[in-house]
Order: sequence, then structure tokens, then C-alpha cells
Amino acid sequence: MKIGIISDIHANLEALEAVFEAFSDADAFFCLGDVVGYGPSPNECCDIIRGRNIPTLLGNHDAALAGKMGVEWFNPAARDSVEWTDKILTSENRDFLKNLPLTYRSCDFVAAHSSLDCPDEFSYIRTPWDSVSCMDGMPPNAVCFIGHTHRAEFFSQRIEERNVDTLEMQSGGLIELKPCFRYVINCGSIGQPRDGDPRACAAFFDTEAGLVDIRRVSYPMDITQGKMQAAGLPSSLWERLALGL
Ligand code: ZN
Repeated sequence: MKIGIISDIHANLEALEAVFEAFSDADAFFCLGDVVGYGPSPNECCDIIRGRNIPTLLGNHDAALAGKMGVEWFNPAARDSVEWTDKILTSENRDFLKNLPLTYRSCDFVAAHSSLDCPDEFSYIRTPWDSVSCMDGMPPNAVCFIGHTHRAEFFSQRIEERNVDTLEMQSGGLIELKPCFRYVINCGSIGQPRDGDPRACAAFFDTEAGLVDIRRVSYPMDITQGKMQAAGLPSSLWERLALGL
């Protein structure tokens, strides 16, 4: 099975469509959450995810729009985008967000938006140390996909050892999954990358070959930025898209 793992779409329709096109060899997709927030096309992105029946987890922006968490921890621009999205979100898409689960477990992989442990706290895994408690909740030989930081990277831990290695993957590339290791893999962000590369980012997981390919995909960003300007979203949000920050 070849699965496209996508995360942090953030209402960026142009980036989402470009990734679907670039991942036409995928048998299925899985979404790690934050379909909405920041970007100008929340309904269009929810409609596509729902229309394709893509299993999706709850992100923190989704939770805010679903009324499951407050926005007091959001920065002012993020808060503005949540308020703007709140005004235009359809009731069908709000119901869709309300029903998203926090975690996923199957024999192929486990997943959460932020971390497998305390997934409703939306803490960030940025360092090997941060990943240890997530690793502790994983079965041996397991792969856990996460998003949330908008940075493609992975953490690996040999079973029965505490030490965790990490590698940044912002240029994309292959991760060969070795037996006797656990992996926490951040697939980066479709709609608002923050690792210095403005191209959309997602992971292509070949479950039989044991390979995860982190791919970067160009998209017509000027269209997205134009929509954000027209919607009156904070300028910092569309300016940062070009920087990948
Ligand atoms: Zn996000």
C-alpha cells in the first residue's frame, strides 16, 4: 500500500491540489489535521477531504473552529484567522471538524497531530528529548506520523534504548525504515511550511517497501496570497508563505 501522508493544509487549496497531483501514485491518503486556519479556502479544503473520504485527525486550529479549545494560546494573527474562518465555515464542515479523532492506530502506522501522548494538549515535538514520551507510547517497530510544527524531520530510537537520533528533512528525501527501531516522522506542512522551503511538503509511505519519501511540491502561491489579501487576512500570514517561515 502506498499512502500519501498530509498535514497542516491550513486552508491552502492551491497547495493541496498540487500535492494531490504530485502524489497521483498513492493508493490512499491520510491527513494529520489542521485542515483549516491561516489560509483563505477552509470550506474548499474541508469539502475535498470529505469528498475523498480521507481519514483525518483533529489539529489545534480544527479544535478551535469546532469549539473544543479556546484561542488564548494562539498568536494574534492566528486568532484573527480563526475568527475570519469562524464566520464563513459551513455547518457541514464545522460538524466534520467536531467529529475528528485525536489519534489513529493500525498495523501499518500510528498517528497524531502533535504527539501520541496527551494528544489533546497539542505540545510540540521539536527535539529528540520531546519525542521520548511519544516513543514510549508506541509499539515496537512502529512508525508514528505527526505534523503540527510544520517542519519535515524524523526521530528514531532503537528498541530497548533511550537514545533518540534526529534528521531534518526539509530538502526532502528517503527514510529507510529499519527493523528494531521506532520512528516518529513529521511530514511537514502542505499549506504553511516553516522550515525555510516555501514549497508544500508531504510524505509518501510505501508500507511494503518500508520507505517514507518526503516530497516538496511547488504550487501557484501568488493565487493563495491574492485570496488572502482579498479576504483581509493579516499581511504577516501571506508574507510568510513566500519565506517558508
Ligand atoms: Zn498547523
